[in-house]
Amino acid sequence: MSPRQENYRHLGETMIKKFNRRNIEAVYCDTAEDARKAVLDMIPKGASVTNGGSVTLDECGILEAVRNGEYEFIDRTEASTPEEKRAMYQRQAGADYFLMSTNAFTQDGELVNIDGNGNRVALLIHGPEHVIVVTGMNKLACSTEEAIHRTQNIASPPNCVRLNCKTPCAATGLCGDCHGDGTICCQVVITRHSRHNGRITVVMVGEDLGF
Ligand code: SF4
Repeated sequence: MSPRQENYRHLGETMIKKFNRRNIEAVYCDTAEDARKAVLDMIPKGASVTNGGSVTLDECGILEAVRNGEYEFIDRTEASTPEEKRAMYQRQAGADYFLMSTNAFTQDGELVNIDGNGNRVALLIHGPEHVIVVTGMNKLACSTEEAIHRTQNIASPPNCVRLNCKTPCAATGLCGDCHGDGTICCQVVITRHSRHNGRITVVMVGEDLGF
């Protein structure tokens, strides 16, 4: 194990306590493969599962495993028209498990997420019975302010490129504080505490994942 991986493991142990203080469950996995197994172990066979857009979930092979596993997978990509998307959101809100990553998390145990449409953060806040948040340790930020800065200057630019959004950050690589139709920064959500015991579980991974 490299010094960096060992440090991530120490950080993971520290962060478990920080999340627990906020009534958020947390586990640490050394690798993406370990994370995939850990997430699948958390979801009972037959449960309904859905997800928010996430490169991390793809990189861990979690989406593929759930899609092909013994679950009722609610596939948000099946909705294309506004009516279908509205019906899909209602199905997602009733899911047993919602899988997502986070744009950042702070050393104090907050989750920080910035969304365009807001459906991902809405489902994090309320709806699905359980939320599993998978994140690489590269998304750890010193403070809430740094987490927001990280999201808008490190995560959003490649996300805008990926989603073909015509935003300043997609063109320059840095946030231009835009307010056009294409902005993906409409809702800034800080998860400070989870009211419901066992609803949110953070799976930290000792690798650099996602944006
Ligand atoms: S506010 Fe606009 S330019 Fe800044 S990160 Fe968000 S989408 Fe990109």
